Amino acid sequence: DRALVWLRRDLRVDDNAALYHALKAAKQVYCAFILDRDILDALPRADRRVEFILGALQVLDEDLRQLGGALIVRHGLAADELPRLAAELRVQAVFANHDDEPQALLRDAQVAERLASFNADLRTFKDHVIFERREVMTAAGGAYSVFTPYKNAWLRKVDAFYLSSYPVERHAAALAGSEIATGVPALADIGFQPAGLIAHVGQGSRGAAALLDDFLDRITDYDQRRDFPALKGPSYLSVHLRFGTVSIRRLARIAHQLMQGGDHGAEVWLSELIWRDFYHQVMHHHPHAMTAAFRPEYDQIQWETGAQAEQLFSAWCEGRTGYPLVDAAMRQLNQTGYMHNRLRMVTASFLTKDLGLDWRRGEAYFARQLLDYDLASNNGGWQWASSSGCDAQPYFRIFNPTSQSEKFDPQGHFIRRYCPELADLSRAEIHAPWPSAPLQMQGRDYPHPIVDHAVARERTLARYAVVKSRA
Ligand code: FAD
Repeated sequence: DRALVWLRRDLRVDDNAALYHALKAAKQVYCAFILDRDILDALPRADRRVEFILGALQVLDEDLRQLGGALIVRHGLAADELPRLAAELRVQAVFANHDDEPQALLRDAQVAERLASFNADLRTFKDHVIFERREVMTAAGGAYSVFTPYKNAWLRKVDAFYLSSYPVERHAAALAGSEIATGVPALADIGFQPAGLIAHVGQGSRGAAALLDDFLDRITDYDQRRDFPALKGPSYLSVHLRFGTVSIRRLARIAHQLMQGGDHGAEVWLSELIWRDFYHQVMHHHPHAMTAAFRPEYDQIQWETGAQAEQLFSAWCEGRTGYPLVDAAMRQLNQTGYMHNRLRMVTASFLTKDLGLDWRRGEAYFARQLLDYDLASNNGGWQWASSSGCDAQPYFRIFNPTSQSEKFDPQGHFIRRYCPELADLSRAEIHAPWPSAPLQMQGRDYPHPIVDHAVARERTLARYAVVKSRA
């Protein structure tokens, strides 16, 4: 009557579906996290996410110990380590929460097979989203590929059942493992170095609670403030949703309650949480879109290649395009691991529609840099910007990086923060400094625009014509 809970992207005790079901089912419940070499060995030796995970595990271990358990941490290939641990502990079942990324599903199938060889089984549960897989379908039984009808169906279906928390603490007496758990390793123990500056997101579930408290004071203004990167508008909870250091049920429940009380800010925020569910179910129904265009005709597009394309790509990555808002955004990403949502749209549009580079290159760069990197949402965002996705921006709609800057950073506060070499320019000059103030720009270490937006726009319309002729 023993069970093992395998934690993956659900690094919390509170309201954890798999943990709850294990505690209900078994008399002795162990909890484990595997630092999976299959994932870790491919990363650079300094990676903010690894630091975030270790911090989150520390809090998780403390929380489990308070309830009489402890976290067992192993470092190795998950597909080997997890079954080995299950065998050592002689458990009958391993409980885990769904991870619907294609690679994770393959790993889980391998683990399930190995567990079966000694009559243990892998039982998995929904935890990461409110609705998953085939839970919200069209009347005809198909998957939604347009957001607004999906959202309406989501809102019709949601009720207290889907939003209520699992009362883990009530069954905590079954927690075990404090005699064998050896604590959470340090970064150096697993071959990593500090990557720096993740303090802004806080440590694990404790950090998430602090960010949530702070956000609830301003959620009512979310709709007014969320598009301006210089303002403290959004919640900054994305990394916590990614690693499950906060419960989506808790967040959606709060937003839904406020919305029903007429709070428009909360309604718009809930809508963002529904986008997250939307992209998650797109990944389930259309796994091919995780590597290719959702709409296959967009794979006919000829992207720029060759030495000059490489230079353009490096300039974009490093924040040296000569378009201040784009550069400030890329430097925010490189320095902090976060980028504001409006700026993710602006920089993704710039890469694909101003530089003519394949959206997958930008997607891969974001995947390396983002603390909140999530396959489904990142892919959804990139395919939206490149127009190749479901319910994407139409291909002929091309953001003008200068007018985006005038509109969403009107005073230039955000630009000044990340491009200090432009900090003394006036409001009128800062959005397009070379064309509007060429003399003041002499002697500064800031590049000329690497492309002319008007020319690039025409080139993009021609490049995407292949799509129109096939549509
Ligand atoms: P808030 O505005 O407070 O939103 C709350 C939560 O809603 C977010 O934490 C996130 O979980 C969810 N959310 C918000 N917007 C979206 C969206 N458009 N799609 C899906 N979920 C959303 N989000 C990621 O979590 N990981 C990614 O790798 C990622 N890559 C992106 C790439 C591009 C090109 C674009 C355009 C968007 C991407 N997003 C991604 C979505 C969005 O930009 C971030 O979720 C958001 O900026 C995170 O900040 P926040 O937590 O302060 O957001």
